Amino acid sequence: MDIQDDKVINCDVLVVGGGPIGSTAARFAAKNGVDDVLVIEKRQEIGSPVRCAEGISLTWLDEVEIEESDHFIKKKVKGSKLYSPNGNKMTIGKELAGDEVGGVLERDIFDKEMAVLAGREGVNFMLKTAATDVIKENGKVTGVKAKKMGEEFEIHADLVIGADGFESQVGRWAGLYEQIPSKDIMTCFQYRMVDIDIEPDYTHFYLGKVAPGGYVWIFPKGDDKANVGLGVQLNQLDGNKSPKDYLDEFIDSHEGLKKGQAVDMVAGGVSVGHPLDSVTMDGLMMVGDAARVVDPLTGGGIANGMKQAKIAGEVAAEAVEKGKVDEDFFSRYEERWRDRLEDKIWRNYMAKEKAVELSDEEFDKIIDALSEVDLTELTTEAILKAVQKKYPELVESFKDML
Ligand SMILES: Cc1cc2nc3c(=O)[nH]c(=O)nc-3n(C[C@H](O)[C@H](O)[C@H](O)COP(=O)(O)OP(=O)(O)OC[C@H]3O[C@@H](n4cnc5c(N)ncnc54)[C@H](O)[C@@H]3O)c2cc1C
Repeated sequence: MDIQDDKVINCDVLVVGGGPIGSTAARFAAKNGVDDVLVIEKRQEIGSPVRCAEGISLTWLDEVEIEESDHFIKKKVKGSKLYSPNGNKMTIGKELAGDEVGGVLERDIFDKEMAVLAGREGVNFMLKTAATDVIKENGKVTGVKAKKMGEEFEIHADLVIGADGFESQVGRWAGLYEQIPSKDIMTCFQYRMVDIDIEPDYTHFYLGKVAPGGYVWIFPKGDDKANVGLGVQLNQLDGNKSPKDYLDEFIDSHEGLKKGQAVDMVAGGVSVGHPLDSVTMDGLMMVGDAARVVDPLTGGGIANGMKQAKIAGEVAAEAVEKGKVDEDFFSRYEERWRDRLEDKIWRNYMAKEKAVELSDEEFDKIIDALSEVDLTELTTEAILKAVQKKYPELVESFKDML
């Protein structure tokens, strides 16, 4: 990092946002040869406060070169239980349950660990430092304006990686994309609860009008502790009712939860839209929630974001080395992350769009049908085929997805 004067800092790759995705993109850029990688993070502490239900699977950690550790995995689970409004239930093993089931994190420790791994590759972190705008010259992003404890300055970089999360401004300042439409925002509220009765070896998902367009989750963090929360699709909120109101109603109607105490609360949003047409422009790559690669069906964004971040870091290193930091060169980033992730995001987006329309009775039938079959894969197609056997009329409107 070269500090020209008080007002300008120069680096090779600048990452805006020190979440797990920003740290991972920075780690892979440094690991692949970039000397001077700087991450700026507006908060004073990486990973805190936590805004997450902390569910992940453990199957993709190898891909992003992370060793599984009790240090950041608080609890491992055997699988998931899905409940329909009338209490029909199905159990899915963790091997089928997707990228959000397998373990429950200590997310603050996980995020810090991701920063440590990046630091070990030589990445510099600047905390309490917020990007306030991007700097563009002749249509190319060349850095950001930044503010640290009242001090304003500029950071110039060969390449900027926008990893500033769900509320990303970097992509908007650069003119890469617009606001997320309300139908593609899941608005979430969660308590960390203790002294509750739960089945701690499973994650639990409650479907239907308890959380319109989303679901209620119970992710265990111990025998009598869990993250209990929900996401509601923003345009499905009923009048003046807030996500907290929905969650309080749900807890009140479950004795095992009602008896417990909430020791922490979290509110936040998740984008559940389809992949963007482009997440790059000259001088800029977007990654993670800021590139909207969250799984639209589950709202989980850590796994997709980390996989994408590795590719972003590798391509960033190649781009800096070759001096080709333009959109043309970044097409190899676009191609690689889309090859890895895009199909599934699109499929789950279409499934989410249909699921939002389902009534409580339809959810009852779907879980009823699924509870009777032994699914060997949990693809949208496998689910629809299983439901079709018992309730063919229900699958009529989904036929185009088969
Ligand atoms: C309630 C809730 C529950 C969730 N549960 C799950 C789950 O169980 N499993 C799962 O996989 N995903 C879950 N998610 C989604 C998951 O939290 C995100 O996908 C993940 O945090 C994405 O990481 P990121 O690094 O892209 O963004 P973030 O973790 O949001 O990190 C972005 C970072 O950028 C910083 N930043 C923002 N603007 C600036 C700026 N201008 N200058 C400098 N720094 C800036 C922020 O302070 C933040 O540290 C949940 C989300 C919510 C809201």
